[in-house]
Amino acid sequence: MIDYIGIRKILEEKTGLAKFNSGKTNIISYCPWCELDSTKNHGHLYLECIDNQNQMPVFHCFKCEDVNKSKGTLVKLLRYLRIDPRKYISEDILNSKSSERNYDYYKKSLTVHKHKINTQNFDLYRLKKQYIISRLGYEYNIDRIPRLIFNIREFLRENKIDLKDKNRFIDYYEKSFIGFVSDDGTMMILRNIDNNSPYRYVKLALVENKNFFKDLYTIKSGQTKKGSNTIILCEGIFDLLVAINNIELQEVKNKSCIWASVLGCGYMNAISSALDRCKLTSSNVIILSDRDKNENYYWKIKKHPSVLNLEVNWNKYNKDFGKLPIGLIKKYF
Ligand SMILES: [Zn+2]
Repeated sequence: MIDYIGIRKILEEKTGLAKFNSGKTNIISYCPWCELDSTKNHGHLYLECIDNQNQMPVFHCFKCEDVNKSKGTLVKLLRYLRIDPRKYISEDILNSKSSERNYDYYKKSLTVHKHKINTQNFDLYRLKKQYIISRLGYEYNIDRIPRLIFNIREFLRENKIDLKDKNRFIDYYEKSFIGFVSDDGTMMILRNIDNNSPYRYVKLALVENKNFFKDLYTIKSGQTKKGSNTIILCEGIFDLLVAINNIELQEVKNKSCIWASVLGCGYMNAISSALDRCKLTSSNVIILSDRDKNENYYWKIKKHPSVLNLEVNWNKYNKDFGKLPIGLIKKYF
């Protein structure tokens, strides 16, 4: 059995709008991928209502199914909205052949690619070390930066990573860039140490990413307490590294469980991914924003089904948090 009445209710709660069509063959709701800021009186996400103990219903969004992969089984939809499928779908259907693959897929969809990272002699790379110090300060303990790579050529060779059309740039990367490997090991973000170069960042795919959740670069701050959870998001890796040790942000740090750089995947996706890493279903969210994102942008994020309270900070002295000094301009949504 599937509790469609309950599903309609929870879809309405999470997305803002969900109705049965006249024949009760579908629930039509706002799409949680593309319509959370919609004010129209109809949505584009269609979920079929069938009751057959061997078949898992499917859904799709007419607007964004190709772009956001917003199609699949009811289990996928519920899990995206952080709803336990067992609340609405009986065991026999969850265990039926048609849903087996999908249910398992979303349960165990995370593969972490562990790369070999040799101990690095930072002193061999004087200019790279100097660059880090200039960004983070003399007292910063470089050894504690997760998966920081100076010897890029060796890293790629040791792990047999083929950059394909980018292989020809390896000498350039080795000479002028420092690298950071993402949490799940699917990518390396390179930062040019020459501030005058127009190529400031390069994103290298290390393996094909088949994970359901987006890869991030995170540091756990270990403050998880039941009932009082906060995640902190920022755009770039230097925003994270600079801000996490800054005195202005200690109060924020003390109530957070994870700091995440979203690596260009967008905040909506990053929230689901960061929560999954902390085994949370919802949390308060604090964003350290770039100056180019204004308030309107954040009203949409506030509607994310897993966000309890949203606080956004801008740095009044710089365009982002990757550069000192830091002074906070706060706004609550
Ligand atoms: Zn959509």
